[in-house]
Amino acid sequence: MSRIEPLPDRPSVPPAVERHFWFPIPNVGGAGVRHAFRGRRWSGEPVAHTVCGAEVALAHASEMDWICFPTCEQCFELLKERSAASTFR
Ligand SMILES: [Zn+2]
Repeated sequence: MSRIEPLPDRPSVPPAVERHFWFPIPNVGGAGVRHAFRGRRWSGEPVAHTVCGAEVALAHASEMDWICFPTCEQCFELLKERSAASTFR
C-alpha cells in the first residue's frame, strides 16, 4: 500500500515587491521604445523578455536613446494593472 504524502504547505505570500526596470530598445528602422523588464536592473544578459511579452536584444543604450525613445504603452499598462491589483485594494 502506498501512502500519499501530503504536499508541504507553500506560503501564498507574494514577493514583497516585484521590481522592474526600463530599458530603451532600438528598432531596426531607427526609432525605438522603452520597454519594462522584470528584475532590479539589467545584469548584462544579451536577450531578455519584456513585460509586454517580446524577446529583445539588450545592449548598452546611449543617452539619446533614453531621452528620445517613448515608453512602451503595453508594458506601462501591464505594470499599472499589476500594481493596482496588489497595492490599491
Ligand atoms: Zn513593452
